[in-house]
Amino acid sequence: MSCEPETGRVLASFRLAKAEDRLAHAYLLVGAPRGAAGMLAERIVALLYCTAATQRPCGQCAKCAQAAAHTLADALWVEPQKKSRGILIEQIAAVQEHINLTAFEGGWKAVVLLFAERLNREAANHFLKTLEEPPAKCLFLLLSDQPAALPPTVRSRCQRVVLPAEERFAGSELRAAVIAAMTAIEGRTVIAALARARQVLAVLKQVRDAIEAKVDQEQSHTKGQDEPEASEEIYAARLEGLYKEAVAQLFYWLLLWQRDVLRQVVGAGAAAAGAFPEQAAAIKQQAATLTYSAALANVYTIEDMRWQVEQHLSVATVLERGFIRLTAVVPEDRRRTPRNVGQATDLSRFERDAREPNTE
Ligand SMILES: [Zn+2]
Repeated sequence: MSCEPETGRVLASFRLAKAEDRLAHAYLLVGAPRGAAGMLAERIVALLYCTAATQRPCGQCAKCAQAAAHTLADALWVEPQKKSRGILIEQIAAVQEHINLTAFEGGWKAVVLLFAERLNREAANHFLKTLEEPPAKCLFLLLSDQPAALPPTVRSRCQRVVLPAEERFAGSELRAAVIAAMTAIEGRTVIAALARARQVLAVLKQVRDAIEAKVDQEQSHTKGQDEPEASEEIYAARLEGLYKEAVAQLFYWLLLWQRDVLRQVVGAGAAAAGAFPEQAAAIKQQAATLTYSAALANVYTIEDMRWQVEQHLSVATVLERGFIRLTAVVPEDRRRTPRNVGQATDLSRFERDAREPNTE
């Protein structure tokens, strides 16, 4: 059995964890449930039951075949019911029953939740209880390509396995768009800022088209199995969810860029060791024009932009205003308002680590 090299590496780490008896009881596999994450889940399940002497999962034995066909008695696969659009409380009750039954073989029980972000609120609350007190030798695999949509309480109880960006949807395109916006357009003018926003929006448009094509394709696979109106709604929701995830990824890369610049400004690490090692020269160049306060303000600007999009402001407006703010020379006393400092809690370590040479 062959799989993508990166997925293969992740599987190898599961193989080692199983051999050393240190598997966690719940993992969130971030990736396409019908793509890379789904394939990985099948192999992890096979790993639990494979009967080969070495090199498990072998992909040859009866158990491996059953794992791939989702027919193992001890492994339960759960996915949203088409007509209801979500994973329901009845399905979680079935999960609880499944894990409390004695295992048929090998002692392991496995539960795979596809499209885990579609757990409805009631189902998520019940599932949480199971996650909090799991029986021994029980493995939960939650699969989602929209991890931000999962309830944080569920997310925090799972070990996160993020399949590499290239295997996630549009991750590499959005990263490239951020590099292009930050390096290809010169100048700290409003016109340059608007050009950057337009460029990023054009890439987002392409990503949206690609998501639509992908969702259309998925829809054509399941035609005829469902009531047409219900499936329209499901796919519209899925399209919006995937697009939202792409926008979140865009802001993630923008934030990493500004963090790399900030790190360079405070000398907290060479740009080559950041998230954009191949752009180290450009990052150094930008850092050289900024004070610590200005570089920190830029990080907060991205945080603000992300927050504005979450409040349903249009992405186009947020990008235009945000990029203008990134180019602006802000008066010293307005760079760090208390509101900004409070909001960016996860950046507090930058404040702790950094000395501020140019203020006071
Ligand atoms: Zn096998």
